[in-house]
Amino acid sequence: ELTSSDLKEFFKVVVKMIEEQKGYLCELDRKLGDGDHGVTMSIGWQAINEVLEADLIGEDDCGKISVIVGKTFLNAVGSSVGPLYATGLMRGAKVAKKKTVMNEDDLAAYWIAFARGIKERGQAEIGDKTMVDTLEPFANELESKFEKSHNFIEAFGYAVKAGEEGMQSTKDIISKKGRSSRLGGRSIGAQDPGATSAYLILSAFQQFA
Ligand code: ADP
Ligand code: MG
Ligand code: MG
Repeated sequence: ELTSSDLKEFFKVVVKMIEEQKGYLCELDRKLGDGDHGVTMSIGWQAINEVLEADLIGEDDCGKISVIVGKTFLNAVGSSVGPLYATGLMRGAKVAKKKTVMNEDDLAAYWIAFARGIKERGQAEIGDKTMVDTLEPFANELESKFEKSHNFIEAFGYAVKAGEEGMQSTKDIISKKGRSSRLGGRSIGAQDPGATSAYLILSAFQQFA
């Protein structure tokens, strides 16, 4: 179970985590792109922090919270990840609509919608060296494990592990989507920054699962 205050607390944990990982995410993006992934994530999550502190302080609809967080990210972030993470959050919001508490079924559906929404928005496939390499194995594992056990905590743990393996797999593949695709074979050897931030976000939810 997750209450609306837990959801806000989770977003605050992400804000803090992104600040801590900002340098690392930029370092990964320097090898593959324009070196700004940590900065773009930080700009987006700092904007979210402001609405959490002000506009969302008394809000108890998990759907509305997730919509506003998504819209805030979209408006604050100019790079490729702006519409991607925003879409994930808006798709999750549909699941959470009018809910002050999310049960285990809602949580599984929320995260599956988040991951698949991003995939649909960016039109990337597994193996393109993007955040989809983290998100798709995560969503597939969450779906199949939760279907079997109906234990969200356990299924989410397995799913994050699958996402981590997907993230690690981006090191050894050629980029086919986004800025880094211009590097062709030179993109081999570096881990994708978006796959990394996606893994970090999912991983941050583990303490709430
Ligand atoms: P930019 O490339 O505009 O500077 P960022 O550096 O913030 O944007 O984000 C780069 C990340 O965006 C990549 O590492 C990749 O994971 C992700 N990305 C780019 N294009 C797509 C796409 N079409 N689908 C999914 N993820 C993508
Ligand atoms: Mg970049
Ligand atoms: Mg950029």
